[in-house]
Amino acid sequence: RAKQEGRNSYRFYAPEMQANSLRKLELGSALAGAQQREELWLAFQPQLDLRRQRMIAAEVLLRWNSPKWGQVSPAEFIPLAETNGLIVGIGEWVLQQAARQLQQWRNDGLPVFRLAINLSALQFIQPDFAAHAAALVQAEGLTPADFELELTEAVALNNPDDAQRIMAELKAAGFYLSIDDFGTGYSSMSYLKRFQVDELKIDQSFVRELGHNDTDKGIVTAIIQLAHSLNMQVVAEGVEEAEQLAFLQQQGCDLIQGYYYSKPLAAGQLADFCRLRGGN
Ligand code: C2E
Ligand code: MG
Ligand code: MG
Ligand code: MG
Repeated sequence: RAKQEGRNSYRFYAPEMQANSLRKLELGSALAGAQQREELWLAFQPQLDLRRQRMIAAEVLLRWNSPKWGQVSPAEFIPLAETNGLIVGIGEWVLQQAARQLQQWRNDGLPVFRLAINLSALQFIQPDFAAHAAALVQAEGLTPADFELELTEAVALNNPDDAQRIMAELKAAGFYLSIDDFGTGYSSMSYLKRFQVDELKIDQSFVRELGHNDTDKGIVTAIIQLAHSLNMQVVAEGVEEAEQLAFLQQQGCDLIQGYYYSKPLAAGQLADFCRLRGGN
């Protein structure tokens, strides 16, 4: 009897589970050729200096427009690319394309700003990653100081010693380092003690309810003070409302990223935004 029930419940759940893992499999193999079929493109989201209200950086956000699957969210395809290893090649392509685009904007005479690039743990631990990344941006006529690398607390989880060494190499090469989704990982404080980072990005889960949640207000205030007492800059991401902005301004947050100022933009739109809001 128990066996029979077990079988029934198996039958009940199986189709859904199968559909889900089938989608993953198919997306994973479609992604493998996406680069060559030119289905990948870069979006850029402005980051503004809160005091001067000027754009001083933009985060590079990868987009996949699949003829079969439509616009697939990076929240779905990046984890797949991390599982099947494709992220290493894709990540390299992102950095190179971003560097090319930035150099193009400089040639066009746009006000100067930095690009922030998201790095996966797997990419980060490739042999000689720091030297390789530096060579890649230099080949496009830029320097590592034109870039900020966004890491999550997950990069340090498996091997903190390697992470410490690689981060020191990236710093020595001249890259700015930023901790993305700060406050959601496992090792916030030990991370800050061991690694020399330039910036913390307050996770949007703490920003979302800033208008009316006292706990989030407390957490955000504490992260801003923590960053400043360690001589780091702090960025709030996911800022959508004037109320959130006012609170962040009052607490001395340095940079703002979110729909309040702009959604992620195609390259041409970012250039327009920069002409209005970039520089001094
Ligand atoms: P992330 O690095 O934390 O990026 C911020 C995400 O928040 C982006 O989602 C952005 O579009 C979204 N966002 C920005 N402002 C707002 C706002 O005001 N409201 C709301 N609701 N959302 C906002 P997106 O573009 O879907 O990217 C999701 C995640 O995918 C990124 O999170 C990052 O972890 C990953 N990702 C994106 N591009 C790359 C890449 O080139 N390489 C790697 N390794 N990961 C990437
Ligand atoms: Mg930044
Ligand atoms: Mg990011
Ligand atoms: Mg984030």
